[in-house]
Amino acid sequence: MRIATINKLCCPFDKADLSLQIITQDIDKNILEGLLTCSQCNRYFPIVKGIPIMSPDEFRESKLEQPLIESWQDHLQGKELKNFRLGATITDNQEA
Ligand SMILES: [Zn+2]
Repeated sequence: MRIATINKLCCPFDKADLSLQIITQDIDKNILEGLLTCSQCNRYFPIVKGIPIMSPDEFRESKLEQPLIESWQDHLQGKELKNFRLGATITDNQEA
């Protein structure tokens, strides 16, 4: 997926802008693997084989994503990814 295309994406839940972290690119600078994160809800969306995974939480499988996220650990600068959210575990009273 091209960076220009990814920059047009927004969070499907709150339409906030996403920030992109590139993990791997091909020689044409297309993104093969990366991580999109939403500044609003802190959800993360992995890019796998050039495809951003932006399904609703109930259609995502953290077990399937976990090995991928673990293989990206070196790129994530210690960020914690849990429950499809970045940084912290979500509790009910944290909902904005
Ligand atoms: Zn969001």
